[in-house]
Amino acid sequence: MSNTLLSEDYVVRMQRELRAAKGKKPDAVQWAMVIDVAKCAGCHACTIGCVAENKLPPGVVYRPVMEEEIGRYPNVRRRFLPRPCMHCMNPPCVKVCPVKATFKNKQGVTVIDYKRCIGCRACLVACPYAARTADFGEFYTDKTPEAADRILGRKEARAGYELTPAKEYGKDWPARGKKSPVGNARKCHFCLHRIAVGQLPVCVTTCIGRATYFGNRNDPNSLIAELLASPRIYTLKPELGTKPSVYYLS
Ligand code: SF4
Ligand code: SF4
Repeated sequence: MSNTLLSEDYVVRMQRELRAAKGKKPDAVQWAMVIDVAKCAGCHACTIGCVAENKLPPGVVYRPVMEEEIGRYPNVRRRFLPRPCMHCMNPPCVKVCPVKATFKNKQGVTVIDYKRCIGCRACLVACPYAARTADFGEFYTDKTPEAADRILGRKEARAGYELTPAKEYGKDWPARGKKSPVGNARKCHFCLHRIAVGQLPVCVTTCIGRATYFGNRNDPNSLIAELLASPRIYTLKPELGTKPSVYYLS
């Protein structure tokens, strides 16, 4: 890793590189993510940041943090594994979609066209990483009890958060009801709506452990390209040939 890292915060550098990538032709940019498992504290700030950013309802999570126990007694410890969509370069989810509602964009991101998606959930079954969930139109406040003067904020939570349109894919989706993305498959999209305005994905900026890195793998001078050259790099389930764009550092 270069000495630049000593004088410039990782997030500042990734932000600078992301803005530089904006000036390039779309197919000159291939987005990739690296997650340093050794730095993940398991705080779930990325999960919650993503839920808030994308107004995710009950049952829909784009970036869960899995926990596992490693080692042998008495030398055991817990390890945390954030697991977003892998944005596979050879994605099984795309092949099974009967209406071509899910596909790769020019920058390597697996996207969903909510207007085309018929909610058949074939992609949920096909994804070997369980990265997709279905939106059944629920609200977190549905099961919150009413208690006048005792439980406060239910109405405000629904109006100020749950009914606020999500900004996914650069569109203002309508307030939750019977329209998309309700009834569709949903998953991580690398916060394309944030990238479009020069901002990093929210899981990168909310990570208190600085464990998540993001950038243009086609830029040989980028932090992400440096990390991808590390001998510690690996992907999940490489034997499946899905070729993830999300990598891990052991
Ligand atoms: S992780 Fe799953 S949803 Fe994401 S691109 Fe790969 S197969 Fe598709
Ligand atoms: S916020 Fe960072 S440290 Fe916390 S769980 Fe997410 S990746 Fe790990």
